[in-house]
Amino acid sequence: MGRGLQPDLYIKSIFSLDVNWLKERGIKGVLLDIDNTLVTHKQKIPDEKVIELIKHFQENDIKVAIVSNARKKRVDLFNEKLGLYAQYRAFKPSNKGFLKAMSELKLIPEETAVIGDQLFTDIRGGNRTGLTTILVEPLDENEPITVRVKRIFEKLIVKNKPIE
Ligand SMILES: [Mg+2]
Repeated sequence: MGRGLQPDLYIKSIFSLDVNWLKERGIKGVLLDIDNTLVTHKQKIPDEKVIELIKHFQENDIKVAIVSNARKKRVDLFNEKLGLYAQYRAFKPSNKGFLKAMSELKLIPEETAVIGDQLFTDIRGGNRTGLTTILVEPLDENEPITVRVKRIFEKLIVKNKPIE
């Protein structure tokens, strides 16, 4: 039945991810969540940190795509300068957005990792698609109540502390 809601790696921030962890596992591409993974909900465009991170992946021969549940307008504006393949309204945990991005990037599940801040969408969806899953702590503490409630359940499921 797969790994359900358990991520393969739990880290404090996407910005502290060691690319060697990916390389050692044969990962050739990453599918990135936007909200609370790369930037907060409020941030409309990528900052220098995000641009550097993506460049860092690419320089290490790791392909990058965005797979987001956000609206087209949000995703298009965010991706304007990045120019990545970007799937909006992916309906994660559905596998459709992941599969579409993987086909665009010519990746198979065994060489693909998903990185996101939500267990019930990013991690659940990635696990059921057979991807390597990386959970990060959300960037913004001031989340809407619906998301905060989900966090309580997430804490019950993933008991380990993230790696700093
Ligand atoms: Mg998110």
